[in-house]
Amino acid sequence: MSRSPARIFVEADLSTTTLELDDRTAHYLANVLRCSRGDRLIAFDGLGTERAATIEKITRRGAVLKLEDHLKPVPEPNLRITLVQGLIKPDRMDFIIQKATELGVSRIIAAHFDFSSVKLSGERVGTKLAHWQRVSASACEQSGRHRRPVIEHAASLAEGLAHREAVETVIVFHNDNADPTEPPDDVTGAVTLVVGPEGGLSPAELGWLSAQDNTDFASLGPRVLRAETAALAACTLAQARWGDLN
Ligand code: SAH
Repeated sequence: MSRSPARIFVEADLSTTTLELDDRTAHYLANVLRCSRGDRLIAFDGLGTERAATIEKITRRGAVLKLEDHLKPVPEPNLRITLVQGLIKPDRMDFIIQKATELGVSRIIAAHFDFSSVKLSGERVGTKLAHWQRVSASACEQSGRHRRPVIEHAASLAEGLAHREAVETVIVFHNDNADPTEPPDDVTGAVTLVVGPEGGLSPAELGWLSAQDNTDFASLGPRVLRAETAALAACTLAQARWGDLN
């Protein structure tokens, strides 16, 4: 049985006929994917272009691909989901980036909430964003997705929500709400989901959110979920109700 061609993410112009790959990608092809000369691949740029390719040359120092047909990629969901996630521990944050990418989220904003135990500042923001980009690129390679989500950092919840348009629905997932509102039946275009860190949302954040337009509070059931479980459940709920999982 022939295996399906490996998908590789390349940060390069894919409109050419040949493409030179750096040593890191060549190493990945040769030693991780066990590819050799003549093998067929799929190369995608994370921005929407996806092409069939054949390995023309592969050495320790690099590789050359011959780029062939343009492929019709897996369509992106009609619903643009933004996840505003309270910063949590690094391994759990990686998990959220990976799963949100697989679930078709368009944008992930890692925001410092009042009760976040982790804080990013200065140079560490850029290093972390680059790391998350790689995590989401691998999730795209594996899941067949051709467009990488935009990943950003915000210094506060309010900054994390500043991107949205006034008409966009915001759904805040909160586990300590005696009277949660039912998520709206109809959401089209775009939705922003807010999930807190391990320590939850602070009274000040809850107060601020209650005063925002088009903002609903929703429950994910009677159990207290860990932040990463809640993020996964929130993205699944949004895709199932209003996106391409219904
Ligand atoms: N100790 C915290 C728990 C936070 S859980 C507290 O008591 O508030 C981390 C985040 O996951 C929460 O801020 C919320 O956004 C989400 N979450 C967890 N369980 C949830 C539930 N049952 N319904 C909705 N959101 C939930």
